Amino acid sequence: MTTKSITVLGAGVIGLNTAILLRAAGFEVTIVSRCTPEHPELDPLYTSPKAAAHWLTFADNDDVRLQRWDTVGFRMLYELGAIQGTGVAKQNAFVVGEKKKEGEEVPWWAEIVPDFRPMHPHELPRPLTHGYSFHGISIDLPVYLSFLLRTFRRMGGHVVVADVKHIDEVCDGRIGGREGKRPDVVVNCAGMGALTLGGVKDTKVFPTRGQTVIVRAPGYTQQWSRHDQVCYIVPRMDGTGTVCLGGTRQADEWALEPDMETAEDIVRRCLLLAPELRRDHWGGEPSPSSSSTSKTPSLDSVDVISHAVGLRPSRIGGPLVGAPSRHHTGTLLVHNYGHAGYGYQAGWGCAAEVVGVVVRELSGAVFGGVEEVEVQVQMRVGGSVRVKL
Ligand SMILES: Cc1cc2nc3c(=O)[nH]c(=O)nc-3n(C[C@H](O)[C@H](O)[C@H](O)COP(=O)(O)OP(=O)(O)OC[C@H]3O[C@@H](n4cnc5c(N)ncnc54)[C@H](O)[C@@H]3O)c2cc1C
Repeated sequence: MTTKSITVLGAGVIGLNTAILLRAAGFEVTIVSRCTPEHPELDPLYTSPKAAAHWLTFADNDDVRLQRWDTVGFRMLYELGAIQGTGVAKQNAFVVGEKKKEGEEVPWWAEIVPDFRPMHPHELPRPLTHGYSFHGISIDLPVYLSFLLRTFRRMGGHVVVADVKHIDEVCDGRIGGREGKRPDVVVNCAGMGALTLGGVKDTKVFPTRGQTVIVRAPGYTQQWSRHDQVCYIVPRMDGTGTVCLGGTRQADEWALEPDMETAEDIVRRCLLLAPELRRDHWGGEPSPSSSSTSKTPSLDSVDVISHAVGLRPSRIGGPLVGAPSRHHTGTLLVHNYGHAGYGYQAGWGCAAEVVGVVVRELSGAVFGGVEEVEVQVQMRVGGSVRVKL
C-alpha cells in the first residue's frame, strides 16, 4: 500500500503538533504556511510566538473534551520538560484568587498535575484568600517552536512557505503537493487565517487580543496565575532571567500595538502577586524616573525588556477539531483551528484527535469518537517521548 500524503496548512503550535503526530503515525507530511518559527515576521497574525505560555486549564469540571485535550497536553509537555533543548521547563506554580471558584470543591486537574495541594493562608499575597500549588510547566516560545519544526524536519517532514488564497490550492496539490499531485488529506490549522481563507471563511472565528510585558528579574522562578482575573507571571527557565507578565483578554479587538496604560495595569496587578519582580528588589539598575522607588508600583518599578501583543484565534462554539469532509477534488479535508487561549496546552490532545479522525476516515471506518492512539515521537534531543494519547 502506498503511503498516504497529507498537507498541513499552518506552522503555528497547532500545525506543528498535528504535523509531528501525523508523521509519527507514518504519513508523508508537508507543512504549507505563510510563515515559520524561523520567519515569524512573514505573518503579522501569527499568534504562537506571542503567547505566555504555560499550562492553566480553561476546562470546567464537566467539560470532558477540553479536559482530555489538556490532560494529553500536560503529559506531553511535562515529559518534554525533562529533555534539554525543547524549550519546555518544569516549575512551581500557584493558581490564586480572592475566593474559591464557585461550585468547585476540588478542581478536575488536581489528579493530573504533580504535587497538587491547597495553599496555606500565609503563602497567599494579600488580599487573596485562596489558592492551589502544583508543579507546572513554562514554555520558552521561540525555542519550543524551533524545536518542534526541527523535530518535524528530522522525522522527514517537508515545509513549503506560501500564502494560500483558497483552500482549493492545497487540496488540488498546486501548493504543497508532492510532484504537483493532490494530497490524500489536508488538515487546516490556519488559526486566525481561517476567517479569511477562500473556501473556508469561517465567520465564527474572531480575535481575542492579549497583551504582555516581558521583564528582567534574574533568579525569579515562581509561576503565578489568578483564576478570577486575567493575570499571570510566567518566568522563562532559560537562565536569562526573563519573565512574562500578563495580561488581557479582549474579544474582537484587532490592535497589534501595545497600549501603555494597559501595560501599567498589568505590571501593577502582577507586582501584587510577586513584589520580588521589582528592579529595586533584585538589585537591577535604578530607573531614570524616581517612581521606581515609590511604593505605588508602575512600569518604572520593573526592568522592561519588551511589550508584546497577540491575537488569540477564538471561535464561537469552541475550536473546530476534526469535522471531516470530502473536498470536490476528492481530498479529505479536516480542520484544527480556533484554540483561543489554550493552543499550547491543548495542542497535542487536539493533534491526537485529528490523527484518530484521519486514520479512521482513510481506512473506511466510521468515525465514532476518539479511541486511545499511542504514538511514539522520536524527539532526538537526548531521548524520545512515548505518550499514550
Ligand atoms: C498573550 C497570549 C497568551 C497566551 N498564553 C497561552 C498559554 O499560556 N497557554 C496556551 O496554551 N496558550 C496560550 N495562548 C494561546 C496560543 O498562543 C494560541 O492558542 C496558539 O498560538 C494558536 O496556534 P495556531 O497554530 O492555531 O495559530 P498561529 O500560531 O497563528 O498559526 C497559524 C498558522 O497558519 C498560517 N496561515 C494562516 N492562514 C494562512 C494562509 N492563508 N496561507 C498560508 N498560511 C496561513 C500562519 O502563517 C501560521 O503559520 C496565548 C495567546 C496569547 C496571545
